[in-house]
Amino acid sequence: MSIQEAQVSRADFDQVMVPNYAPAGFVPVRGAGSRLWDQSGRELIDLSGGIAVNSLGHCHPALVDALTQQANKLWHVSNVFTNEPALRLARKLTEATFADRVFFSNSGAEANEAALKLVRKVASDRFGAQKYEIISALNSFHGRTVFTVNVGGQPKYSEGFGPRPEGISHVPFNDLAAMEAAISERTCAVILEPIQGESGVLPADQAYLEGVRALCDKYDALLVFDEVQSGMGRSGKLFAHELYGVIPDVMSIAKSLGGGFPISAMLTTEEYAKHLAVGTHGTTFGGNPLACAVGEAVLDIINTPQVLDGVTAQGEYLRERLRAIGEPYNLFELVRGKGLLVGAVMSAAYKGQAGALMAAAEREGLLVLVAGPDVIRFAPSLVIDKTDLDEGLARFARAVDAFVSQAQV
Ligand SMILES: *Cc1c(COP(=O)(O)O)cnc(C)c1O
Repeated sequence: MSIQEAQVSRADFDQVMVPNYAPAGFVPVRGAGSRLWDQSGRELIDLSGGIAVNSLGHCHPALVDALTQQANKLWHVSNVFTNEPALRLARKLTEATFADRVFFSNSGAEANEAALKLVRKVASDRFGAQKYEIISALNSFHGRTVFTVNVGGQPKYSEGFGPRPEGISHVPFNDLAAMEAAISERTCAVILEPIQGESGVLPADQAYLEGVRALCDKYDALLVFDEVQSGMGRSGKLFAHELYGVIPDVMSIAKSLGGGFPISAMLTTEEYAKHLAVGTHGTTFGGNPLACAVGEAVLDIINTPQVLDGVTAQGEYLRERLRAIGEPYNLFELVRGKGLLVGAVMSAAYKGQAGALMAAAEREGLLVLVAGPDVIRFAPSLVIDKTDLDEGLARFARAVDAFVSQAQV
């Protein structure tokens, strides 16, 4: 039997993979829209969207088409050359946003690395070496490279990886007074998620983002929005900061941009982009033609009033239904989020048990996510069918029943 034909199963994971993940007990093999099938042929409804990545569900025909067409043309040329898909996608992203310039990379962490290097370089060029401090929020998440875990506000992700890079401080999210106390002439940038994703689907307050914008202007610090999770239509606007009317200087995007194909981008204005001159930054795969061809197809579909309005309407419906499902058991303290990034916060009696509810959902054939120990997170396809959403919610209601009857309250 050749290697390709050899049977593999979940058990192989524990023998051949670095044990940094704890994947579910089944192995998905096929997906279509908001449904997935595992090796045994079991069908699951997917309201997790690959952690807010599968923005158009699984194997959307337009994305399959964009990918296969490009696969027959050109895969990679390096950044010694540019390429048509990258130029087209960059053109469309700049037309759709505050930004004039785009840097492509392959993951959220890498887009944030580019953003953080850019803000340091801008400050160094304009004001000198002493202006390098970066302020971020407690509980924020910005990726897993050594620098981005330290910028992120969750110490559990940065402990044990050696000395911390200097010049990073953390303040409580949505606390403008704390930001005002922390920011100074030495601050080169503030980085925030407009909706904190990993730590519980917590949207920023309107006055907070406006206040932080004003403080950044006062201290010549750049405002970076990490829209890796909140961006590309997930909030019901193309980017979540549009809900607030607060414009950043730099933005990182990733997850939904490729709809499942790895691609990310750092976007900024002409004025700041010029500081990353030839030779100052780069990445081998950034701007890959396959990734950019898929990204362009994703953007073309998402950036339409029908899809964005649909996200807003489906999000409201999802939150309403979740409240109704939890109500008889007093299961959720509140259900929050924007568009189709939704967090159901477990009430006091069920604190710490989001993981157990997620496991109960999986037993009912439903994929959901957690965001920390107390929040069940939903990040379904932005074009999910009403029937799939309703079937997912029916399965969730059954899971809640089973969970509540077994929960240790
Ligand atoms: C997922 C995420 C990242 C990291 O993205 P990777 O592709 O895993 O590197 C960064 N920021 C936010 C807000 C995210 O949700």
